[in-house]
Amino acid sequence: MNLDFVKDIEEKKPIRIPSKTKVAVAKGDGIGPEIMNATLRILDAAEAKLDYEYIELGEKKYLQGNTAGIDSVAWEKIRSNKIIFKAPITTPQGKGYKSLNVTLRKSLGLFANVRPVESYTPYVQSHFPDMDVVIIRENEEDLYAGIEHRQTQDVYQCLKLITRPGSERIIRYAFEYAQAYGRKKVTCMVKDNIMKITDGLFHQVFEEIANEYPEIKSETQIIDIGSARLAATPENYDVIVTANLYGDIISDIAAEIGGSVGMCGSANIGRDVAMFEAIHGSAPDIARQNIANPSGLINAAVAMLGHIGQAKIANKIKNAWLVTLEEGYHTADIYQKGKSLKKVGTNEFAEKVISNL
Ligand code: NAD
Repeated sequence: MNLDFVKDIEEKKPIRIPSKTKVAVAKGDGIGPEIMNATLRILDAAEAKLDYEYIELGEKKYLQGNTAGIDSVAWEKIRSNKIIFKAPITTPQGKGYKSLNVTLRKSLGLFANVRPVESYTPYVQSHFPDMDVVIIRENEEDLYAGIEHRQTQDVYQCLKLITRPGSERIIRYAFEYAQAYGRKKVTCMVKDNIMKITDGLFHQVFEEIANEYPEIKSETQIIDIGSARLAATPENYDVIVTANLYGDIISDIAAEIGGSVGMCGSANIGRDVAMFEAIHGSAPDIARQNIANPSGLINAAVAMLGHIGQAKIANKIKNAWLVTLEEGYHTADIYQKGKSLKKVGTNEFAEKVISNL
């Protein structure tokens, strides 16, 4: 038993409770540094109790010949901080480079990727005013497990890995999430009419676990018609649980029809470590122009603050962000002539959020 606190009382010193949570921060590539700097300014202005330790990952490391895009110094900082706040990074095209995102998720056991997508009509244009869906994506297995190789000169293979423990963990997480957040229904999306064994297992585990949560409605849809319906009537979905690749695709679709892919944040939850990031990539086409929407990373920051017990500050930031959208200060991706008040850049958007805190 650690009796340090007894000694502190005896010596009449204050008990040492860390006042700030340590966070490993990666500024990323492309639009990463712009949206990260904007978000950190908002966090500081909101007096979030965070202590940043910067790590370097991604393009620079790849170009130095590190095929994983991450070195031992960054790993050490990630493992000691346990919370990562990460801007998007660029994975160079071509053979030999491993996706850093996949490496981080697998190495750190970040089994659940939680991607909430909400529409903000009438302030942000979307055809779906009642859309409010949370996509819970399995994050370590499936076609992203990294089992990909050349079989012969002309034949290449990527294997789909689905395990019972992995499926149980993510599906239980989805039901627990639904229960904790007062959600009414969990929809499982699979393709088990074709992949009867792998997706069949995911579906079977879903049915088993759904029985343990009779108060939450459950349904299963085949991924192709499921994603078509998600695109046509997203208001009919509440929580969706699905395999890694399907979840990656449908969350981009959902984000885009909800307003913009630039709006959504995501949490990658593991047993010891959690990582928070925007759902989009490094958008090299608009990098260094001060036009990217920092909202995805701002929402990731809000999720991070909630996760580490700073819900009050999280709500303060979320409300200031909503007010900024309502006032009509919009970045180019969500700007609507005649409806938005002003088209603003990344920095000006952040300043407006700060003035609304
Ligand atoms: P992307 O998400 O970067 O961009 C797709 C489109 O959305 C582009 O037109 C872009 O300008 C736009 N967009 C994205 N974010 C935006 C924002 N915040 N504001 C306004 N517009 C925004 O996808 P991509 O072009 O396929 O990928 C680019 C790079 O990002 C690739 O190297 C890819 O590997 C990487 N990537 C990284 C992550 C991550 O780090 N988590 C995720 C996906 C892709």
